[in-house]
Amino acid sequence: MKKYEAIRKQLLARREELNKRVNKLSNSARHIDEPLTPDFSEQAVERQNDEVLTALGDVGRQELVQINRALAHIEAGEYGVCDSCGTTIPAERLEILPFSDLCVSCAEKQAVD
Ligand SMILES: [Zn+2]
Repeated sequence: MKKYEAIRKQLLARREELNKRVNKLSNSARHIDEPLTPDFSEQAVERQNDEVLTALGDVGRQELVQINRALAHIEAGEYGVCDSCGTTIPAERLEILPFSDLCVSCAEKQAVD
């Protein structure tokens, strides 16, 4: 499993960064730091901001799910194998997309579907 040690470290670092960011985003969306402004028009703006923050948080959470899955695959010795057809995913692809669990041709097929 030493083979993927560099990727594992990269994923762990990325996970930590995302965790921090998602936590921070959900804190500001929930107004833990600052209460809602009593002014009505400002409240509308703040609610819009909340939606953006929530969307950003969702993207981060999705990536966290992918990272956790990739890390679990590394632990299980199943990392770098296409989920769909079972071929080995080329190392160059894993370097660009460390949490991809599909080979190029399966990913392309999925994108078409
Ligand atoms: Zn495949």
